[in-house]
Amino acid sequence: MSVLSELQSALSANRIEVVDLTAPLRDSTPVLRLPEPFANTINFQLEEISRYDERGPRWYWNNIHTGEHTGTHVDAPNHWLSGKDGNDVSQIPLRTLVAPAVVLDVSDRVAADPDFLLQIEDVRKWEAEHGALPDGGWLLYRTGWDVRSNDSESFLNVDDAGSHTPGVAAECAKWLAEESPIAGFGVETVGTDAGRAMELDPAFPCHELILGAGKCGLTQLRNLDRLPATGAMLVVSPLPIVGGSGSPARVYALVERS
Ligand code: MN
Repeated sequence: MSVLSELQSALSANRIEVVDLTAPLRDSTPVLRLPEPFANTINFQLEEISRYDERGPRWYWNNIHTGEHTGTHVDAPNHWLSGKDGNDVSQIPLRTLVAPAVVLDVSDRVAADPDFLLQIEDVRKWEAEHGALPDGGWLLYRTGWDVRSNDSESFLNVDDAGSHTPGVAAECAKWLAEESPIAGFGVETVGTDAGRAMELDPAFPCHELILGAGKCGLTQLRNLDRLPATGAMLVVSPLPIVGGSGSPARVYALVERS
C-alpha cells in the first residue's frame, strides 16, 4: 500500500485524528494592543455584501476586514526589522508549513507565574526526556493560556505595569533561533513574546532573533493539550499574501491514536 493510501485508511479508521489548533475568527477575537505612540491592528470584521436580498437575491457573501496578525496567525520572517530581507508570508517553504511538531508543556509553572519565561535548561530537560527538537519542524509552547482565548481581557492580562503573559527568555530565544534545528516556534498567547518582553535584552527576543534567523512564528494556538509531546504532524495554512508580513492561518495537527 502506498504511504498516502495508508494515511487515508488510518484517517478513516480514526487511527489518525485531525486536531484543530485554530481559534475561531470573529470580531471579538483578541488582538494585540500596543501602547502609545505605536499604531495598532484592527479587529476582525465581516462586512456584508448581500444576504439573499435585493443586493444579491440568492447569495450571501462578505468582505473581510482583518490585520495580518489577527487570531491564530503566522509571523513571517519579514515581520521584524531583523528579518526584513527574509521570506514574506507567501514565500514560506511548504516544507515548513507541513512539518513535525513537538509540544513543551509548562502550564503548571505558568499557572503560578503568568510572567514565566522559558529558559534553555527547560528545553534541554525536555530533550533529555523526549529527544532532539525536530529538524525543520515546530516547537509548540504549551502554557495553558488558551483557556483565556475567548476573553480579550484575561487573554491580554494587562495591568498598570503592562501585559502579563508567558514567553521566552532572551538567551533561550537566541538558542532556539541560532542553535536549534526548528523552523518555527508556536505559542498559545497573542504573540510569540512575553507580555513584558519590551523589558528584555534584546526587546521582543523571539521576534528579534527567531524571525531574524529566517524562522517563523505561530500564535493563538489552542488544543495543544490534545497533542503528544512528540510525533504530531503540523499543517499550517496562511494566506499567500504577496509581500505580507503574516496571515491568519488554519492550523491542524495529525495525531496518531493507538
Ligand atoms: Mn504576529
